Formats: sequence, C-alpha cells, structure tokens
Amino acid sequence: MVDTKTKTLGEILRHSGVSRRGFLKFCTATASMMALPPGMVPAIAAALDKARRPSVIWLSFQECTGCTESLTRSHSPSLENLIFDHISLDYHHTLQVASGDAAEAAREEAMHANAGSYLVVVDGSIPLGNPGYSTTAGFSNLQILEETAAGAAAVIAVGTCAAFGGLPKADPNPTGAVSVRDIVTDKPVINVSGCPPIPVVITGVLAHYLTFGTLPELDQYGRPKAFYGTSIHDRCYRRPFYDKGLFASTFDDEGARSGWCLYKLGCKGPMTYNACATAKWNEGTSWPVESGHGCLGCSQPDFWDAGGFYNALSIPVGELSRTVSYATAAGLGLGAVAAGINHRSKVEANRRHGEVTVDDLEKTS
Ligand code: SF4
Ligand code: SF4
Repeated sequence: MVDTKTKTLGEILRHSGVSRRGFLKFCTATASMMALPPGMVPAIAAALDKARRPSVIWLSFQECTGCTESLTRSHSPSLENLIFDHISLDYHHTLQVASGDAAEAAREEAMHANAGSYLVVVDGSIPLGNPGYSTTAGFSNLQILEETAAGAAAVIAVGTCAAFGGLPKADPNPTGAVSVRDIVTDKPVINVSGCPPIPVVITGVLAHYLTFGTLPELDQYGRPKAFYGTSIHDRCYRRPFYDKGLFASTFDDEGARSGWCLYKLGCKGPMTYNACATAKWNEGTSWPVESGHGCLGCSQPDFWDAGGFYNALSIPVGELSRTVSYATAAGLGLGAVAAGINHRSKVEANRRHGEVTVDDLEKTS
C-alpha cells in the first residue's frame, strides 16, 4: 500500500498501475481542454508527476448529490478517478467513512494541518432564509462554509447550485438560496457550473492547480475559460443544419430522424457555455444533443427560470453574444427582446467588434 500522504502524484499513479502512455494521454487531453499548446504537455506531465496531493475538503449543502455522482459514476478506474482519488479528500459528506463527531474532527484537523493551502469544494446552494433548512452536526450551511473557507487557498463551487443557486434558487426560492460567491468574497472562487458538471472539467481545474499552483483564467461568471469559453452552439455537430435552416419540429419527425437542428424544440445551445459538445459525457460516449434532446442551458445562471425547457428561443441567434445571460434574457422576456430591437445599428456595430453587450439589448426593450 503506497503512502499517499508522502508520495508524489506520479509515484501514486505508477503504483496504481497507470502506464506512462496513459498518463501522457491524460496530460495531452488536459492541455487541449485547457486550450494550452501541445508544447506544454511535457511541462504539465513533469509538474503533475512531482505534485503532492493537496488537501481537499468537500462540503455538500442544498444539493441532490448529482455532482458527486457525476464524478464517481464515470467509468472506473479512469485516470480522472485516480487523480481525484489521490488528492487528499479529507472530508466529503457522501464518500467519507467517518460519521458524526469523527467526521467533523477530520474536517477540523485538515483545516488546522493545511491552513492557508487547502482547497474547499462545495456542491449545493446555501439557504439564508432559515438556518434550520439545511444543517450538519447542528451547524447551518452558512456557518460551515464561512468557517471552512476562512483558511482555504481557494474555493471551487461545483455544479450550478453552488455556482449560481441552481434549482433551490428557482422562483420563488423558498429557502432564500444563494451561491458560494454570494458568501465567500475574500477568496478566489472558481465556478464549475453544470447540472451536473462534466467530470473532466472538475479534474481539469484540479490538474491546472496542481500544475501551475494557480487557478485558471475565468470568464464573467467565474468559470474557467478553457472549458466555458465557447458556446454549445458553436461546437455543435448539428450546426450545419442550423445554418441551412433545417430544424426538427417534433421529436419524432423526419427532421429529428435526420439529425437536424433542435433549436425549434427548445435547444438553449446558442446561449449556453459549456464543454459538452467537445468533452461529451460517459467517457466521451455522447452528449444530450447527440442523443436527440436540446441543451437545457444547465451551466448558465437562472436556467430554471429562463422561459421553459421546450420553448424555442425567440431571439434571433445572430443578435446574441456571450455577454447575454439567461437572467437578462428571462428578465427582458425572450420574445420581446427580438421584437423590440430598435438599436440595431449599435448592436451591429458592437457585433462587428465581436461583442453585443447586455446594455445594448436592455436598450432595445
Ligand atoms: S440550436 Fe442546439 S441543436 Fe441546433 S446547432 Fe445550436 S446547439 Fe446544436
Ligand atoms: S448539453 Fe446543455 S443542458 Fe445538457 S449537460 Fe450540456 S450544458 Fe447542460
């Protein structure tokens, strides 16, 4: 049995039977996902090989455990699993063996022994409406998050509930749910959104931290640009049908059977930023649009309240840009946005410069 507390990640992986070829394959995929040039692969491999596993404390609040399931239900043993297994996961409500006082003692010990350097991973939103809505060991989610984040190097909000409030925050938000970023304002917080998020995105963020000792570059929603920098629509294999105006109108018509675009069936791919179209799911087997169902927009803020999963976006896609959020679209009324555009020249001018701002669209309502 290898001593995973003192050995490097490379030593642990070799002990686990991971071949050099398999390890380099993972490094190549990670470099690609992080939009790093192939020339960085040796540097990533060398850094990961020598890295020691960071202490990670995983907190679960108002959630469905889908984010943990996403990670652990990937085919095993995958390299992502091994890397994740071999961080020092010192506290995890779902996976830890300890319970009760022993579990809480493990959290406190990890915080004390690794003060200033441990990572906190959170799944689930935090209820502010009534501290009794969600508690662990008699402490509210808010108390536990504030206490645990205080000594952390960074916090990773895994899943749309932790990143943006998610389903618990959907109207009328009965528990007063908020996101991690609403509470933790004095630490780096990285959002790994999705309902659930893609496993390789979680491990990719951890790999980046292990490799460079820093967190990756983030987008306007605090998500790593390497994974959330491109819309589902821009990478969708059905895009040629969209561009030709060929749309399925029902889930079993000739268009659906021919693999045409799902825009008219409610696909939110044009407004959604995530890596599904490239990373795919279930070890790269498929992804929702490939399975015949439109994207629900699960990695975007407030997607539950954004106008109905099966209602087609009524904003001409040409008017959209990556700066338009679901909240904005929902607030303006999806149909009204398109109908009311009366600052078209400014929008067009901005688009020529590669950006249509929220301000542009708000002025058109
Ligand atoms: S609207 Fe949806 S199905 Fe159509 S091309 Fe865009 S992402 Fe793909
Ligand atoms: S395709 Fe869309 S709804 Fe489905 S998992 Fe990806 S981002 Fe979420």
